[in-house]
Amino acid sequence: MSADAFNPPSRLLMGPGPINADPRVLRAMSAPLIGQFDPAMTACMNDTQALYRRVFETANEATLLIDGTSRAGIEAVLVSLIEPGDRVLVPSFGRFGQLLREIAERAGGEVHVIEAEWGEVFTPERIEAAIREVRPKLLALVQGDTSTTMCQPLADIGAICRAHDVLFYSDATASLAGNPLPVDEWQLDAVTAGLQKCLAGPSGSAPTTLSKRAVDCIRGRAHVEAGLQGATHAAGGGSRIRSNYFDLAMILDYWGEARLNHHTEATSMLYAARECARLLVEEGMPQAVARHALHGRALVEGVRALGLQPFGDQRHRMHNVVGVYIPEGVDGEALRRTLLEDYAIEIGTSFGPLHGRIWRIGTMGYNARRDTVMTTLAALEQTLHQAGVRPVAGSGVGAAREVYADQQDRTGES
Ligand SMILES: *Cc1c(COP(=O)(O)O)cnc(C)c1O
Repeated sequence: MSADAFNPPSRLLMGPGPINADPRVLRAMSAPLIGQFDPAMTACMNDTQALYRRVFETANEATLLIDGTSRAGIEAVLVSLIEPGDRVLVPSFGRFGQLLREIAERAGGEVHVIEAEWGEVFTPERIEAAIREVRPKLLALVQGDTSTTMCQPLADIGAICRAHDVLFYSDATASLAGNPLPVDEWQLDAVTAGLQKCLAGPSGSAPTTLSKRAVDCIRGRAHVEAGLQGATHAAGGGSRIRSNYFDLAMILDYWGEARLNHHTEATSMLYAARECARLLVEEGMPQAVARHALHGRALVEGVRALGLQPFGDQRHRMHNVVGVYIPEGVDGEALRRTLLEDYAIEIGTSFGPLHGRIWRIGTMGYNARRDTVMTTLAALEQTLHQAGVRPVAGSGVGAAREVYADQQDRTGES
């Protein structure tokens, strides 16, 4: 055992998340703690809710943080919306679709899964046909699945769900702020996210937004009033939410005007989440999405110029993470180790059917920058060379530079 202070090495995190947090977020986290119901604290919570309404592009009153990593948000939504026996449709196109399935099953749902090949997404027609067949209460669909780097188009799905009276939930952990997600315009009923991808923070807080339809569904279920009376009767009509920590009815009362005590707010994470949202609101959501698109494009053109092939249907690639086929004869894990040891750069491995076949390289949040893309491409060229692949010297960085030069021509920036 070492009792020495932990001094983490300096790393450039260019994987599918987590990423290096923006220094402003780290500074915000070191602010002093204050009490749960201090007016300064409740004001900070209200401000944070207002900031996240802008991040999610929604007027939803019920916009708040779930304390925990991204899957805390997923679990809170699914356990609070799904009653045992409810039919749930999960179109799955990667590992996180499988996670939605598992959590929905644990919540007691009767889960129907349709699958797309890894590297592809669903058409709205296919989803609508499955809705007609399954007649679910809830559609649960990942937006950006980092396991495959694909981004499911959501623009038309909300209207389909409304037409069939289905609630529509999306896990946007990896995609929010890097790809468009206007929650109200696209008619989503519930969206959850995390900080450690395009939001430029550490993991540990799950920004969540719920439409009135979703809130009505949750409020209609049983919950223990104020959590103190030991009541077991149904306050609404249905069955009681099977979690205390993730009971969104109680969490809504905690964030809402009633301010009923639930858990102790994770104060430092609240500060972090607030600063992440402030950064995005200052930048503007369309600008943040455009930044991720630009650096993602520079990275893709760079790896192509190095002679590598990007993975999956490129029309539906997330802006912020690129899957790259490991070239024939190269030991993918050995190369990742060299990148880490010699350059302090971390890129991602992959799972399931893609294990050993692709690397995943992210440009997200604080790391969606020109210098990080250039550094990663330069280091990748050297490590490929060492592994026996012979890319043209300077080709990756050169191709990325061209993408940036084009962009400057178009926007007239200097
Ligand atoms: C990265 C990611 C998560 C992460 O969940 P954690 O609980 O924060 O580890 C969830 N969903 C998707 C789609 C992701 O890409």
